[in-house]
Amino acid sequence: MQADESGGSNGLWSDVAPSDWNDWRWQLRHRITTLETLETLLPLTTEEREGTLLAGKKLALGITPYFFNLINRSDPHCPIRRQVIPRVEETAVAPWELTDPCGEDERMPVPGLVHRYVDRVLFLVTDRCASYCRYCTRSRVVSGVGERQLETDFSAAIEYIRRHAEVRDVLLSGGDPLLLSDERLEHLLAELRAIPHVEILRIGSRVPVFLPQRITPELCAMLKQFHPLWMSIHTNHPREATTEMAAACGRLADAGIPLGNQTVLLRGVNDDPVVMKSLMHKLLVMRVRPYYIYQCDLVRGTDHLRTSVRQGIKIMESLRGHTTGYAVPEYVIDAPGGGGKIPVGPVTVAAHDKQRVLIRNHEGELYEYPERNEECVPCPP
Ligand SMILES: *Cc1c(COP(=O)(O)O)cnc(C)c1O
Repeated sequence: MQADESGGSNGLWSDVAPSDWNDWRWQLRHRITTLETLETLLPLTTEEREGTLLAGKKLALGITPYFFNLINRSDPHCPIRRQVIPRVEETAVAPWELTDPCGEDERMPVPGLVHRYVDRVLFLVTDRCASYCRYCTRSRVVSGVGERQLETDFSAAIEYIRRHAEVRDVLLSGGDPLLLSDERLEHLLAELRAIPHVEILRIGSRVPVFLPQRITPELCAMLKQFHPLWMSIHTNHPREATTEMAAACGRLADAGIPLGNQTVLLRGVNDDPVVMKSLMHKLLVMRVRPYYIYQCDLVRGTDHLRTSVRQGIKIMESLRGHTTGYAVPEYVIDAPGGGGKIPVGPVTVAAHDKQRVLIRNHEGELYEYPERNEECVPCPP
């Protein structure tokens, strides 16, 4: 039996009372974390069984019952399944893969605080998530079994932000910040909000997708005290856009939180123009603005999940000009070694000199725009 997208069915957990099922703490307590449990729920392939046996040494297995229910259990290629069930390919490391693919560890002035861009910081507030994505960019520290430990120094991080007046944007991530209790999160947000030069706060979370029950009215009421507060969620496939997720996003949007979405381009999940366009449309219906599509980082053991950049650009070409502009995110590569996010959209400037710029539209036709003959205003250093 597959999850009923219209809601009301708990699938494999049909005997669970709705009051339990809709309780985020129940969902967390009943996460699937062992091979034994997993095998009682669906027939694993050999690759998955071996992968799950080895997962405990790299990135833990963890899936909420809610998200597990979205798996089509009779399809070994199910795009939901590929995101959260380990495979033996995870143990193969390609020569170009890295422990710290975006070079974050070298840019931590304080443990747990990444300062890569001048005016904003990434604050890693927990190493736990509601479920674990097999392609996690931070698998070295996330889930508690990776190569390293996340040892965030909260008071030093807040002190650092206080002393760096150029930081106007603080992005909470992890792990998933929405796994903290309302009280912890409120305390942390209050401390950051009290810093005068911090203009905006942001939370990066996959909880609306993995555990929409966590988005309670109480959480939303707490968050809205800290505006302007933005949130980036992480959705990869249109099947994740359930009524539960829509309701959770609706509560966040009603609390005045602008919602963006980050998608990771994944082989066999969403490396297809039709799937990607459908996802983008579903996000807009949920009042979520597609923000980024990421080329999959060079995380160790993720080669089987990566797609070519060529295919990524093809997908972008299928979106730009062919659907609502709001449905078109930016396609970026977070450059290996710490270069930051670099856009790799389709090339639209065909030629550019002092007299004219030659531009290509979504139908491949060329147009000319006369260039103005004037000096550019120099960028500030
Ligand atoms: C992605 C990221 C940010 C935020 O980047 P935006 O493009 O502003 O969303 C900030 N710091 C680090 C280290 C990041 O990886």
